[in-house]
Amino acid sequence: MRLNGITLSHNKNTAESQTVPVPLPESVKIPMSQHMGVPCEPLVKVGDMVKVGQKIGDTDAVMSAPIHSSVSGTVVAIEDFLLANGKVCKAVVIKSDGKQKMSEEIYRPVVNSTESFINAVKESGCCGLGGAGFPTHIKLRVDTKVTPIDSLVINAAECEPYITSDYRELVEAPEDVLDGIDKVMKYIGIAHAYICIEDNKPQAIADMKRRTASRNDITVVKLKSSYPQGAEKVVAFSATGRIIGEGELPAYKGIIVMNVSTAGFISRYLKTGIPLVERRLTLDGDAFRTPCNVKAPIGISVRELIKFADGSPDAIAKLLSGGPMMGMCLYDFDTPVMKTNNAILGFTEKAAVRKEVKTACIRCGRCVRACPVKLMPTELEKAYDAKDVDRLKKLKVNLCMNCGSCSYVCPAKRDLAEKNQLAKELLRQ
Ligand code: SF4
Ligand code: SF4
Repeated sequence: MRLNGITLSHNKNTAESQTVPVPLPESVKIPMSQHMGVPCEPLVKVGDMVKVGQKIGDTDAVMSAPIHSSVSGTVVAIEDFLLANGKVCKAVVIKSDGKQKMSEEIYRPVVNSTESFINAVKESGCCGLGGAGFPTHIKLRVDTKVTPIDSLVINAAECEPYITSDYRELVEAPEDVLDGIDKVMKYIGIAHAYICIEDNKPQAIADMKRRTASRNDITVVKLKSSYPQGAEKVVAFSATGRIIGEGELPAYKGIIVMNVSTAGFISRYLKTGIPLVERRLTLDGDAFRTPCNVKAPIGISVRELIKFADGSPDAIAKLLSGGPMMGMCLYDFDTPVMKTNNAILGFTEKAAVRKEVKTACIRCGRCVRACPVKLMPTELEKAYDAKDVDRLKKLKVNLCMNCGSCSYVCPAKRDLAEKNQLAKELLRQ
């Protein structure tokens, strides 16, 4: 069986751009919701002095991950913050003292068992760095007696155009990636790992193959460059041939899917004890004169990154957090960088504004052929317009991963993926 997919321009303009740190900002704004699940409660108050790596947000809720300060300085505000997804959470604003003093809370975790490994991952504040933000310790906490996990699928597909931050992780920190994979395999008890990389990154594929040549427990999988190869269900299928069904997690099929940058981070955390306080991002789009890859402290404003990439907010007609297919439009240049951001893309009006006019469906079937999970977007659109909940369920709208492929290929420019988002919300209600 072969999964559908579409061909996009790769636009990996920053593939050879070595990651550089951005200058320390005067202040950071750190939202208490940077993961899928319950937001953290601030553990600090206005006037408190904090240091890099100090825990500033946490909750007893299981589905969550603690949040740490990315700078040393003074807490100057705790305020409501409107996230790009429309939800509101608290954010801690810290004025930097410019000294980047490290917290005494930082220590190299002692890991000698599955439990201590998962607890360490939790304390690191790690959540899926590919963008979904699923707390990594929850992903790892599978009862392997009930659900035996035999496959670790490392997602290094990076199929969205423009983004090269995962590629730079592979190129700049391959030892960390392999060490992170080894640690997950060892402590979760997984027999085999698959490192999945699209074939538009031949250097990374060759390097990983060379590094793992003597290993029969790691396979480097060369994926066809086809969108959305990096979607969780798609990459799990490409590596193992197993289909993750509606409402299923990969663990139900014996698989843990982990982003490649997450694996690299786990290794570094176990070696240093420094939690997730910075991240690598790609800055690209025609509004930036100097596209690049940067390492930025969590909470730095997007405005600072635009400046760093020689862009001007005045020239930007569309600002995206993430890729052009699944990224989120940002409404505010002062939006802070979060753990899940892997790219900031800025486009001028020339590149961003869609000029085509929406017309009636011509029943060409392209959307059906493009859908990686074989849905019928055109039928789903009709069912949504009729608010036919039973039909939406029958057509399995909840399998839609909002990859946007159907909308992309539609010659009639129907808002198919958007309607599916709304349809899923309708079912939730
Ligand atoms: S957005 Fe949903 S329906 Fe459209 S192609 Fe992607 S998975 Fe299929
Ligand atoms: S791609 Fe567009 S025009 Fe073609 S069948 Fe699907 S909705 Fe209709």
